Amino acid sequence: MTTSGIRQVKPKAEGWQQRKDESGRPLLQFASPKRGKPPVHLADLTPDERIAKAKELGLPGFRAKQLAKHYFDHYTRDPEKMTDLPKDGREELVAGMLPNLLTEVRRLQTDGGDTIKFLWRLHDGALVESVLMRYPGRITLCVSSQAGCGMNCPFCATGQNGLTRNMSAAEIVDQVVRANEIIAAGELGGKRDDDNSAERVSNIVFMGMGEPLANYKRVMQAVRTMVDKKQGLGMSARGITISTVGLAPAIRKLTDEDLPVTFALSLHAPDDELRDEMIPVNSRWKVDEVLDAARGYYERTGRRVSIEYALIKDMNDHPWRAELLADKLLERGHGWVHVNPIPLNPTPGSVWDASPIAAQREFVRRLNDRGIPTTIRDTRGKEIDGACGQLVVTEEDERLSAV
Ligand code: SAH
Repeated sequence: MTTSGIRQVKPKAEGWQQRKDESGRPLLQFASPKRGKPPVHLADLTPDERIAKAKELGLPGFRAKQLAKHYFDHYTRDPEKMTDLPKDGREELVAGMLPNLLTEVRRLQTDGGDTIKFLWRLHDGALVESVLMRYPGRITLCVSSQAGCGMNCPFCATGQNGLTRNMSAAEIVDQVVRANEIIAAGELGGKRDDDNSAERVSNIVFMGMGEPLANYKRVMQAVRTMVDKKQGLGMSARGITISTVGLAPAIRKLTDEDLPVTFALSLHAPDDELRDEMIPVNSRWKVDEVLDAARGYYERTGRRVSIEYALIKDMNDHPWRAELLADKLLERGHGWVHVNPIPLNPTPGSVWDASPIAAQREFVRRLNDRGIPTTIRDTRGKEIDGACGQLVVTEEDERLSAV
């Protein structure tokens, strides 16, 4: 209890040890630890680089285009099926440009088969997850951009193990291609019997493992490949959401990219006093600076920004914080932002609870009353530890992956 009678739970990790740096502050890892690089794959390369690579392998450049079509349009990685390519050298071409990147270790399903969580092993044994979700009218894939995460937020399971390494652009893209392959094979539930449409992933959220803006170059190459209509997945940029903990310089860089992706900021607290403790990277870039950067994104792209806010009982769900959040958003204008509160999902060792329904409603009501569109986000996959903040490699995952 504080003296004013408002309960304030502190975001200190209990039940597990938060990693600390030499000065005793939560450890932040920006640089990827050095490990063997994943094999270079077509999706790591620009169309011109692909042509050069095909020539390197002793084949005319246009073979690269054919290969891209097999991979992006038909999800084919099997040389046997690529009958439009000369038999001679086909295997070498495929091995050289479409090396296997993700090995499926496990699949967990829930929501009557509408939600699937995948555990993938990368070439060096690092493990990552992605979550595939069918909604009415769309199919969303939540992708990972790093194995682990260096941002160390105490309420998110992914950060507890630190950063293993950055994922390559192709490792990011391959999550989508593999999901498309699985959808095409009819393995995602929920399709209506009378629906004969060819289906594929329509929306991507960078809300799996990792901080996408800490792996900037590779994430951008992956996004460019996702939206490339001729030699990529041909997705709409608006359907791709990049979610960040708030690396302000990288947000400003993203603003300059001219890619109208949807931008989401994981704010979680409107005051630096609390955000410093909830989001260790707030020690570098404060609430006002990240909100200015987010507003800049809106100004340049015209795309409305999402503010994510995990509602944690008595920690950040106070009515005064809803009002302060409204003040900070309205200071920067009207109509540029909407707020997406997410009741906290449980993570291993976590001692906090999601806000009670009444507190959630009150929080939402106050923001809506101030004219800020606010909707609680439906989180999927809690039963399979596949919801926001729950993606973490467990000992069981390691065991499974070793067999
Ligand atoms: N690093 C990126 C993306 C990964 S997390 C980011 O921070 O935005 C995706 C979203 O899930 C973020 O908004 C994150 O703050 C939120 N999240 C993390 N742990 C959570 C938990 N235990 N319950 C609910 N949401 C959580």
